[in-house]
Amino acid sequence: MSYDLVVIGSGPGGYVCAIRAAELGLKVAVVEKDPTYGGTCLNVGCIPSKALLHASEMFEKAGHDFAGLGIDVGTPKLNLPAMLGHKDSVVESNVTGVAYLFKKNKIEGIRGTGAVAGPGRVKITDTVGEVSEIEAKAIVIATGSEWTPLPGVTVDEKRIVSSTGALSLPSVPKRMIVVGAGVIGLELGSVWRRLGAEVTVVEFLDRILPGMDGELAKQGQRLLARQGIQFKLSSKVAGVDDSGKVLKVAIEPAAGGDRETLEADIVLVAIGRRPYTTGLGLEDSGIALDERRRIVVDDHFQTTLEGVYALGDVIRGPMLAHKAEDEGIAVAEIIAGQAGHVNYGVIPAVVYTHPEIASVGKTEEELKAAGIEYRAGKFPFSANGRSRAMLEKDGFVKVLADAAT
Ligand code: FAD
Repeated sequence: MSYDLVVIGSGPGGYVCAIRAAELGLKVAVVEKDPTYGGTCLNVGCIPSKALLHASEMFEKAGHDFAGLGIDVGTPKLNLPAMLGHKDSVVESNVTGVAYLFKKNKIEGIRGTGAVAGPGRVKITDTVGEVSEIEAKAIVIATGSEWTPLPGVTVDEKRIVSSTGALSLPSVPKRMIVVGAGVIGLELGSVWRRLGAEVTVVEFLDRILPGMDGELAKQGQRLLARQGIQFKLSSKVAGVDDSGKVLKVAIEPAAGGDRETLEADIVLVAIGRRPYTTGLGLEDSGIALDERRRIVVDDHFQTTLEGVYALGDVIRGPMLAHKAEDEGIAVAEIIAGQAGHVNYGVIPAVVYTHPEIASVGKTEEELKAAGIEYRAGKFPFSANGRSRAMLEKDGFVKVLADAAT
């Protein structure tokens, strides 16, 4: 078989690229190793986590805010299987939606693990190990990322879990330790705290949400702590003893010092994600990786092998679904001979805690480092009529503007 474009990976980067290319008239195939389309985001990332964040927030509101609004419902009771069922059905409808879009746009979906066999050639190993090859004028690698392991800690997805296991815990843990105060740790920590777990977040750095505006992160931490999440900053998890009924988590100061042991029923490892490049045949094809094993691309998303492009979590830049999607559109347009591009200065980031923490553009720290004169304006929600009407008084809006213009 021969195609104008073969995309390896059907996450937000890959499926959006494939659909845009088909819209522009190209003959497209997508190779996906997993049983459903949609990648990390739709199957075990953005979508299921947002389903649980919404449901747990409603549970929390029913228990804490409804009475103040004049709605007496008594103490709400958690039906965890039904809540997890809601999450699963949202995932199901999203991934089947992608399959429908492929069909509608005459995109061929091929189940198997794809690898670059050379210029214009993709090798596919199907689910029973049979190997075939297809030809493509252009190849896009959109294989995404996987969770980063914590040295010395074995994830069993039962008691010591990654984000994937934390999306399907069969019961609410009494005590949960989250390793890493990034977006995923704080979101999933919030879910289980709202459902009744005692949650402690252990973070190596002296702040939460690295990379986000410092003032936002500080206020965010204060509000999450007020909701009951405990923080151990400048601390590292040195090991987890899972030999007994209760997990024993060894924690040390990041700078060295005395070790303490905390007990937990669930440990969530959420220290970050790394590009997924396993089995792609990159080295053999002469496709270069950088020091963090991300695929190196030029300004037009082309790798070091002509005709092979890469996008999304597997290349540089923030690991966000909408960034991958925007790149997917740009790459499809470039391959079709148009002038696709991505404006990396305006990619928003959102932490779906409560309150949600959203930002776009430069942080104060970045402006200071770049020596850019700026003015900061801030307005608290507590002084805003609509916020008060909604009992949403926590938080603020902050605008950083160029001082001269
Ligand atoms: P992926 O979505 O990872 O898709 C890659 C696909 O490639 C997968 O389906 C994989 O099976 C397939 N694949 C890999 N190798 C091969 C191969 N050799 N052959 C065939 N197929 C292959 N981002 C946001 O913007 N907002 C959020 O709210 C958000 N929440 C998140 C919550 C969690 C818990 C997690 C884990 C992530 C979240 N993200 C969020 C990040 C988001 O999921 C990723 O940025 C996004 O999925 C990246 O898209 P992608 O297309 O690059 O890769």
